[in-house]
Amino acid sequence: MRSVTVLGATGSIGESAFDLLMRSGGAEAWRVMALTGGANIARLAEMARALRSEIAVTAYPEHLDDLRDALAGSGIASAAGPAAIVEAADMPADWTLSAIVGAAGLPPGLRVLERGGTLALANKESLVTAGRLVMGTAERTGARILPVDSEHSAIFQALGADNIEDVSSVSITASGGAFRDWPMERLAQATVAEASTHPNWAMGQRITIDSASMFNKALEVIETREFFGIDPERIKVLVHPESIVHAFVTHRDGGNIAHLGSPDMRHAIGYALHWPKRIDLPVAPMDLASIGSLTFRAPDEERWPALRLARQVIAAGGAAGAVLNGAKEQALDDFIAGRIRFPDMARAVEATLDDLTGRAGFTTSPSDLATVLDWDQQARQIAAGWAARHGGR
Ligand code: NAD
Ligand code: MG
Repeated sequence: MRSVTVLGATGSIGESAFDLLMRSGGAEAWRVMALTGGANIARLAEMARALRSEIAVTAYPEHLDDLRDALAGSGIASAAGPAAIVEAADMPADWTLSAIVGAAGLPPGLRVLERGGTLALANKESLVTAGRLVMGTAERTGARILPVDSEHSAIFQALGADNIEDVSSVSITASGGAFRDWPMERLAQATVAEASTHPNWAMGQRITIDSASMFNKALEVIETREFFGIDPERIKVLVHPESIVHAFVTHRDGGNIAHLGSPDMRHAIGYALHWPKRIDLPVAPMDLASIGSLTFRAPDEERWPALRLARQVIAAGGAAGAVLNGAKEQALDDFIAGRIRFPDMARAVEATLDDLTGRAGFTTSPSDLATVLDWDQQARQIAAGWAARHGGR
């Protein structure tokens, strides 16, 4: 029986993974070691009971009593706090899904790699903040990383056994998010509710807003660079409103291999769960005749400055990814809380990058977790300061 752990089980990706585990035999077919979540204790306990998880862990110590009560009589252990999540990641599951949102996903994901486990990685922030450290750790321990982000799963599948050296470029697509067709001058008035609506994908709120700002695609360009080790000049982004072609690989001989499918994350999660096998998955069949046409356009970097910042971060290397991500997470918090406007998020991130670029050590890729988290904290502080000075206009 294969053993699995899901970090971030109660989120959008976590729910999809839960659905796949339940449909493929549930507790009878899988040995579930740990499920982790946040404040939604009722759902976490329900999932842990359904899958007969060995332990359920909440990120928040103040919810531990509730979790214990919700699991009373089940024999399922409970724990709380970031260190307990890292301990859960350390349990010897054959397959661990990293589906926590934000830089908080890095410490447990890294622990899976340190123990040589298989990490199915939805948490793109791990590669953005600490690409060298993450990939280097996997190489050192022999751990395997399977991409779960749909574009990266698509590249992985389109690449097959081909060598990345024989690829002249990889192209990832973006729907363009909620404000794709808005007049630019209206963006300053965008509300949190408007930014939290995605045209095609049902996802967590943070990644949905990041899709509207294209910070999600910016993170994914960096993720592509780190995971596949491909030069930034060979990574392309296309706006593709239908979200059917997730990515394609352009070979040096002029051939292109694309990966298409309905926008449902259960494909990418299920592919990683059963890799290298393919099994039936509950994904709606793609009906091209009813879709009719697939359209593509070049992204406008004035509308989406995040894409320009991603290129800047890759060129800078060192701690730039951790800084970009930390500043972006803070700016997103500030936008959600109403402290800054939608276009201010990119301004706050750019100002933070400008501020930290000259600092000692910035050009060195962080070689341990503490250094990554230190840059992350510095970036959050500076971005918060920017919001305090420029917000409320
Ligand atoms: P979500 O907000 O729906 O869920 C996040 C999960 O992480 C929840 O279980 C939550 O309780 C937990 N969590 C939140 N903060 C935490 C913290 N500080 N410590 C520990 N746990 C915490 O997010 P999501 O949309 O499922 O995205 C999860 C990850 O997958 C993100 O990195 C996102 O970029 C990536 N991703 C998501 C999708 C998607 O379709 N949702 C697609 C591709 C990649
Ligand atoms: Mg994606």
